[in-house]
Amino acid sequence: MSVEALISQIQDYNPDAEVELLERCYHFAQKAHAGQFRKSGEPYLTHCVKTAEELAALRLDTHTICAGLLHDVLEDTGTPREEMDIRFGQNITNLVEGVTKIGKYKFRGGHRQRQAETYRKLLLATAEDMRVILIKLADRVHNMETLKFLPAEKCQRIAKETLEIYAPIAHRLGIWRVMSRLEDLAFKHLFPTEYREIANLLDEKLVERQAYCEKMVERIREKLENQDIFADVHGRTKHIYSIYQKMQQKGTPFKDICDLVGLRILVKTDKDCYLALAALHHRWSYLPDRLRDWIGQPKKNGYKSLHTTIVDDGKPVEIQIRSYEMHKIAEDGIAAHWSYKEGAPNCKQGHSIFDSYKQMLEDIQDTQDGAHQFVESMKLELSEDEVYVFSPKGDLFALPTGSTAIDFAYKIHTDIGNTCCGAEINGAIAPIRQELQNGDRVHIRTHPNCKPSRSWLRYVKTSNARSKIKHWFREKDRADALELGKKFLQSELRVSTLNARDYLNSPKLLDVAEQLHLKSIAELFIRIGKREESAAHVVSLLEPDAPEPETPTPLKEAPMPVLEIENGIDLGMIRIMKCCNPIPGDEVIGYVTRGRGVSVHRTGCVRLLDEPERQLNVKWPEKQNGNHRRDIYPAQISVECNDRPGMLGEITTVIAQCKVNIRCGTFQPSAVTRANDAAQDLLTLDVTGTTQLAEVMQALQHLKGVQRVKRKF
Ligand code: MN
Repeated sequence: MSVEALISQIQDYNPDAEVELLERCYHFAQKAHAGQFRKSGEPYLTHCVKTAEELAALRLDTHTICAGLLHDVLEDTGTPREEMDIRFGQNITNLVEGVTKIGKYKFRGGHRQRQAETYRKLLLATAEDMRVILIKLADRVHNMETLKFLPAEKCQRIAKETLEIYAPIAHRLGIWRVMSRLEDLAFKHLFPTEYREIANLLDEKLVERQAYCEKMVERIREKLENQDIFADVHGRTKHIYSIYQKMQQKGTPFKDICDLVGLRILVKTDKDCYLALAALHHRWSYLPDRLRDWIGQPKKNGYKSLHTTIVDDGKPVEIQIRSYEMHKIAEDGIAAHWSYKEGAPNCKQGHSIFDSYKQMLEDIQDTQDGAHQFVESMKLELSEDEVYVFSPKGDLFALPTGSTAIDFAYKIHTDIGNTCCGAEINGAIAPIRQELQNGDRVHIRTHPNCKPSRSWLRYVKTSNARSKIKHWFREKDRADALELGKKFLQSELRVSTLNARDYLNSPKLLDVAEQLHLKSIAELFIRIGKREESAAHVVSLLEPDAPEPETPTPLKEAPMPVLEIENGIDLGMIRIMKCCNPIPGDEVIGYVTRGRGVSVHRTGCVRLLDEPERQLNVKWPEKQNGNHRRDIYPAQISVECNDRPGMLGEITTVIAQCKVNIRCGTFQPSAVTRANDAAQDLLTLDVTGTTQLAEVMQALQHLKGVQRVKRKF
């Protein structure tokens, strides 16, 4: 393990490498780690050099490799930061410090929330300088290679962390070379039986597969030569974990995957890729749904290639076609776009991979609640499967498989998402929750009055759309709470001796806000509206010793705020009352209770107290185009009918035909006629609103033997 070997490896691609600096770092690491040994028994320095070699294999800049040599010096040798600064400069020290920082986040499996949080911190720590994560990945590769020397428990933890965190990062950055090794090493430790099983089967079939492979390589080469396409054709091995994943995901039987031959064709130019594809498709039949053009639309991590599966004698053969340049990118990802001189991406593509990485981090930062959600979306967005859809202008967009028109709307622009009211897919009107298919042409219709619905969260796949919808509701909840808080305070002031007009928006109120450590009156209203602060308490602070009022002056009402009843979701502030069971479409009115939010009654409900100053206008959300509300509300009806055999059965059948559920019911002789042959059935139905209820009632009315159908108040 000599420094000369490392330096010559670097000079192969970077003749201007700072040799003297590299040597100094090597010798410093040697001295600092002197007497330290790895669990494998090797001197600690081996680990430092292996890490540096991994970075050199990615053709990175001198500073990154120096930091690779020194990456454990701060943590494990007690060398002060200042000393490193003086010896090697700030650039290298910052990198080492970054790596040390990441090492502090310990991954503990099991608890999703914590796992997500680790992930988030880790990613944020790398957002500043991408090289930090590259060093960490190189470090991890060697640690995984020597994992077997660690105690079993630690082994499991590190392997899990590698599979769940580091391999996906390597994937996001497109570094296949690192990703595939991390995955296989981790898989081997976590699922030793499965690993051995696949490895053995691969071995068994090795000779047979190789023979077939060689034959195919020869035939393809010949075909391409005939067309004057110069190409390198190779057999290619899948890594074991990818075989395992395919078995898991697609339920493909083991033998089918292992029999599958994979070939790779390397050519000089983009154009040759397509020519080669045409030549193959001319000679062999192929599976159309397996054809992928990652050149026309590269993956987010920069990957480009053509994929096709040709059928030879009934046997599928997977083929990747790419240029030498694309191959380098496929293996090294972002590192392929790295300037070893500047230590930064050196081209548009490198920056765009970096940008997509940063974009992902931004989406994550916005995900306050449900941090685990983002581990899921991270996995999702990394998965191979994307659908490609067109805007009406013909621009191409890539979205994770399973994305809906809502995801697409938010992908175009936040405002489009927030005001989206419907979609046209391939010219036909479609629900906005419809899943998009490859090649769909999607037009999003918007309307300024349209608003997001919480139910959308059930239909979105991308973290981008999810976080924007949540953001919209956070803002809306604040605005609602503010209006409500104002109302609560007004109504509290009215029952007190104070004059509301003198106090709302008065400097006195601001004093109270400050007393409660709030920045503004608005914040105070919001707190009251969310019932984190009681209006009564605020009033008592406003005027601790108020004089008895003479005659309270009648308050001129500000226009009443209109509160929208949320789509079946209890905001904690709005309660739909059971005395009158209002359903969408009913005229409703809100009542500001003391400390229990707003209760919603049907207009005319006897339980609604006649206190106009506590009443509040509320309304149902407008039905939006294409957004089928699935939320249901209970409505009570009474059915007066003949008491004859089969009557009840017919009633329930009619209701079922309207696709309405009966929540409960009582059946008794009619209270009205008290005749023996009449019955009155009381039914509670689950309906979406007045329209559906009317349909059911009408259908029942038409039933033979039914006299009267009424809705109970
Ligand atoms: Mn290390």
